[in-house]
Amino acid sequence: MDTREIVKKYNFKFSKSLGQNFLCDEETVDGIIKKAEVSKDDTVIEIGPGVGTMTEKLLNAAKFVYAVEIDKNLIQILSNEFNNYDNLKIIEGDALKIDFSKIAEGKKNVKVVANLPYYIATPIVMRLIKNKYGLKSITVMVQKELGERFEAKPCSKAYGEISVLMQYLCSVRIVKSVPSSMFIPKPKVDSVVVRLDLLEKPPVHVDDENMFEKVVKSAFAMRRKTLYNALSRGMGIEGTKLKEILKISEIDPKRRGETLTIEEFANLSDNIKKYF
Ligand code: SAM
Repeated sequence: MDTREIVKKYNFKFSKSLGQNFLCDEETVDGIIKKAEVSKDDTVIEIGPGVGTMTEKLLNAAKFVYAVEIDKNLIQILSNEFNNYDNLKIIEGDALKIDFSKIAEGKKNVKVVANLPYYIATPIVMRLIKNKYGLKSITVMVQKELGERFEAKPCSKAYGEISVLMQYLCSVRIVKSVPSSMFIPKPKVDSVVVRLDLLEKPPVHVDDENMFEKVVKSAFAMRRKTLYNALSRGMGIEGTKLKEILKISEIDPKRRGETLTIEEFANLSDNIKKYF
């Protein structure tokens, strides 16, 4: 499918606020599908199909495709262009609200493959990995900097709240770089494709996941502060008590949140839960 031709045929007007940058390079689309390892056993959920550039190839690679699109004009175009496929269901909806468990219910291999709208890529991905929805894997294109944050390791500039929470729930791999010239209109930033494989069991044990999330958030909320300062403010723990908790956790209070491994965050949050 020639993305430019379809856009021209329907005189489609791009919406910046819906993050509409469409892929116009066949090799890139093939590459994403290859990295997602889509096969004829798979049900694919595509979020934001646009004019269907990737959808067309997914339809040939997968058993069935659910394409979730928010833009009514695109729903119209997709319905016209793909009316002869019996393995596609086009769903008009918001990826932040739609009940993915209804789609995934009773199916074995369900994979998300998408070139995500960048303005809501983080909440969409977090929603998918937290709820799991019986998904096997998630392969998504996101802004390069965001992909690097997903994958980042302690002590790097990109390491933050999202890196810890993401790596607690999935194995994360950047599998492809995609320059901005592969899209129309051309975005200001480059992109990467990230493959997320949901873990059956987190890499570390955590007594209370809500507490874990709160500790991680507090530790990174004030990046420049020491862990002691960040936690006493963010968690409201009294000074002596906090020093004691950090000592039991074998963490120097002068360290910064960005130096802590997931294991250290887990241990710290368990100790806060115990002694707070
Ligand atoms: N997959 C197409 C491609 O690669 O050419 C389009 C990708 S474009 C970056 C993002 C798509 O997501 C657009 O089609 C946009 O309309 C759609 N979109 C934006 N917000 C959405 C939302 N909340 N739920 C579902 N789709 C959304």
